Amino acid sequence: MKRSILERYGDARLPRYTSYPTAPRFSASIGAGTYGDWLSQIEGDDPISLYVHIPFCRSMCWYCGCHTTITLKDQPILDYLDVLKREISLVADAMPRKPEIATIHFGGGTPTIMEPNEFLDLDFHLRSRFAFVEKTELAVEIDPRTLTDEMISALGRAGVTRASLGVQSFDPKVQKAINRIQTPKQTRAATEGLRAAGVGSINFDLIYGLPHQTVASAIETAETAISMRPDRFAVFGYAHVPTFKKHQRLIDEAALADAAGRHAQAEVIAATLLDAGYRQIGLDHFALPGDSLSIAAKTGSLHRNFQGYTTDACETLIGFGASAIGRSAHGYVQNEVAIGRYAQSVATGQLATAKGYRLTADDRLRAEIIEQVMCDFSVDLAAICRSHGVSADTIVNGNPQLRRLLADEIVTLENGVLLLRGEERFLVRAVAACFDAYLAQAGRTHSKAA
Ligand code: SF4
Repeated sequence: MKRSILERYGDARLPRYTSYPTAPRFSASIGAGTYGDWLSQIEGDDPISLYVHIPFCRSMCWYCGCHTTITLKDQPILDYLDVLKREISLVADAMPRKPEIATIHFGGGTPTIMEPNEFLDLDFHLRSRFAFVEKTELAVEIDPRTLTDEMISALGRAGVTRASLGVQSFDPKVQKAINRIQTPKQTRAATEGLRAAGVGSINFDLIYGLPHQTVASAIETAETAISMRPDRFAVFGYAHVPTFKKHQRLIDEAALADAAGRHAQAEVIAATLLDAGYRQIGLDHFALPGDSLSIAAKTGSLHRNFQGYTTDACETLIGFGASAIGRSAHGYVQNEVAIGRYAQSVATGQLATAKGYRLTADDRLRAEIIEQVMCDFSVDLAAICRSHGVSADTIVNGNPQLRRLLADEIVTLENGVLLLRGEERFLVRAVAACFDAYLAQAGRTHSKAA
């Protein structure tokens, strides 16, 4: 059964549904003017979240799917930080109040490419424009290869609560094939240093489906990583899209596993983490039982945003920096991707919005269903549809993908509740996709479902 299911669904290229609608639906019809209006309407006392993008790295990892630029010089970074601070002020000025911040996430690129004093200065600027409180969570993506003691100490002083370390694979053959040499010793030193500096939660990112990766090396990487006892893991499948990410052409396609091989690697990593006491959260996260992500999964309060699974329940997420995506009650916005164009907009005193999407009533309904499928592997379609004032028939009837999933016994539907069978949970994106009204128009630009 499993093999035939995998052949039928596992090769489909589907979104990871970190938003709905997904980014390919964004259009230039939403620009700085519209975003300014949306910002001016963010009222009330609800906390908001922030994302800050630092699009620079010192060398290119060939698997990379992020928006980043390689620089060995510091001046482009310094220039960018000036623009970033200006953008933060522009956005803050467009809002009617100084909102409380629930979570701030520094992502990239490599946020720790900043010098410690630059990071503290940026942190200070954000604190001057937004209301940080004691429970504000501060998360930073870290490259252990270039993390210095001084930066660790600055992260501790800034009150960083979570550090996310890129690990991917410890197999030297894989590391060579992806141009990312990172010893276990470097990762262990970064982990221990961050903990000693007071960073309470550590996340490791692992990847399966990389060139030359095998089931044995996937297990070995997971075991080495577990010996450092991070609080969380995010385990992603490598998305090979060389048409869009030209540096991925440096990866030898012949060394990539097929769908069954990728699936086997994902399964052994999951089994190794579960054996070590981690709990599986949604599709691709794992956390120790006491971690807030585990507790949220248990209590049905897990959410999904552009960083993946999260406990962050804020409706408003403001993105700063080139390519950053944000979200408000009205819809989504994305900044200019190219650093030059981003800087040009901000220099003229304008928000750097390049495109976006205004949500419709039908989008909100489908977004809620898809988020719940991705987080809980089950969804009360009848209850959600009722709360949106529509009949579940509008979602269920005339839905050939859903009929196919029911016929293949991947899901059940009883009394309006859709449930994904335990052993087929790796196909959760295929289940979410059957509620995506736009997928057929989006084309095959996403990563494989398994
Ligand atoms: S460090 Fe991260 S963002 Fe930078 S090139 Fe490597 S994978 Fe991409």
